[in-house]
Amino acid sequence: MFQNAVAAIRMGIEDYALDRPERSLSAVRNFYAGVLLLAKEVLVRRVPLADPDAVIGARYKPVPDGAGGVDYVPDSKTTIDFATIGKRFKDFGLEIDRAALTDLSDVRNQVEHRFTNKPSQVVREIVAKAFPVTAQLFRLAGEDPRVQLGDAWATMLEARALYELELDRCRTTFEAVVWRSATVADAHLRCDDCGSDLVAQTEAGNTDQAQMALVCNACGAMPSVEAAILEAVGRALETEAYIRMKDSAESGPVFECPACGEDTYIDFERGCALCGEAFEWENCMVCHSRIPIEDALAGFDEGICSYCSHIAAKDD
Ligand SMILES: [Zn+2]
Ligand SMILES: [Zn+2]
Ligand SMILES: [Zn+2]
Repeated sequence: MFQNAVAAIRMGIEDYALDRPERSLSAVRNFYAGVLLLAKEVLVRRVPLADPDAVIGARYKPVPDGAGGVDYVPDSKTTIDFATIGKRFKDFGLEIDRAALTDLSDVRNQVEHRFTNKPSQVVREIVAKAFPVTAQLFRLAGEDPRVQLGDAWATMLEARALYELELDRCRTTFEAVVWRSATVADAHLRCDDCGSDLVAQTEAGNTDQAQMALVCNACGAMPSVEAAILEAVGRALETEAYIRMKDSAESGPVFECPACGEDTYIDFERGCALCGEAFEWENCMVCHSRIPIEDALAGFDEGICSYCSHIAAKDD
């Protein structure tokens, strides 16, 4: 499996180095297949006495062992993918950048739609972003990527350097912007067309978020500011939203903004990341409990919470 992993990564990088648009998709497919195989190899090497199929299987089922107990056996030929492999690394006590693995899974899923007019730029970004986690995987496998990948490793290094230079140039154009949300400023904008981070402001000196115009240096699209901010808010706060819901069944931190109607109102920033709408709300005048943000956003900001207004309406 290790040799297959190395061969696939090399093939992917060689396709990328050819810089021929028609090879871009196969470059990415090979590269991803190789990195995924490498990740599986790391798991298998961790437990040398185990059956490799059992280590990388995605689903298990209990079957009677004939002696009054059960054995757990793979339930299908499906093996773990980028979306689930991070969890297994954790279970195996292996340190890996799980977010980077999840990211690979996201990009892998949308990659077929991403090849527009600068496919080699897209592949470069994918290779550059996957670089640190690929290096980590080689280390965990106890192998030296320089030795294993040879020229392909040098090409990866170069792709990463070029990409970072380009990313820097794009990000510099936003330096003077006065953002309405620190969350968005930290998350940076992405192209909603192709998913690239290589988004720049067309007018580098502009400070006004409302006056921004964007261009994507990967696909050439002119992403809308609204869509880019909406995406940045969702991406930045997705995990927190999930944790809140899971731990306390609470909604937020993102709500629909009463002013612009987009899902860009962030409760802990007390303002809308897109239009800047902000309001303070107080405790309810009747029951003195804090007015829930849902009430405030729905227009119950006259000092009485929805529960008390409901009771008042019943008494009438
Ligand atoms: Zn784009
Ligand atoms: Zn708004
Ligand atoms: Zn009340």
